[in-house]
Amino acid sequence: MVKDIESVLITEQEVKDMVSRLADRINEDYKDKFPVFIGVLKGSFVFMADLIRQIKICCEIDFMAVSSYGNKSVTTGAVKIYKDLEKDIENRDVIIVEDILDSGLTLNYLMGYLRSRNPSSLRLCTLLDKPARRMIPITADYKGFEIPDAFVVGYGLDYQEKYRNLPYIGILKPEIYTD
Ligand code: 5GP
Repeated sequence: MVKDIESVLITEQEVKDMVSRLADRINEDYKDKFPVFIGVLKGSFVFMADLIRQIKICCEIDFMAVSSYGNKSVTTGAVKIYKDLEKDIENRDVIIVEDILDSGLTLNYLMGYLRSRNPSSLRLCTLLDKPARRMIPITADYKGFEIPDAFVVGYGLDYQEKYRNLPYIGILKPEIYTD
């Protein structure tokens, strides 16, 4: 597995420090509130698990499973919902927890979908942001790292379902995903 990684972009410690900083901001901003965190599966599951344990306010969590990529490393633009919310988010303060904001297609779709359920507020928290590839102008309210236009894996992010268990964010060797 490690042999497929070209370089480590963000170390385990750097991720840990960033997750704490993001949680501090959310704790402050939502101190009198009872938000619902919505994790976007599968990629956000590690980030969600670490973030939520640094959240000190009372909150709930839910997950959605969507896919925009299939097994390819380039976006298709099509978004499919595999798992919908279990909670009613009407009049709730909602925070979407995403692993990476890339073209913005997935989140644009998802945010429109969630807005149609009338939350009282909707914010986006993403660990990684690849602004160079943005096709739709979305900005995250809570953003971890801006990264260059490279395909990354680890800390929940996969390529063909592999590498999610790496504790750091690494750049995959291009020969692994070029057909
Ligand atoms: P968007 O719709 O913003 O282009 O894509 C968001 C989704 O694409 C992410 O949730 C993630 O699943 C996938 N994605 C985008 N860039 C990368 C990347 O560099 N590595 C991996 N593993 N997935 C990515």
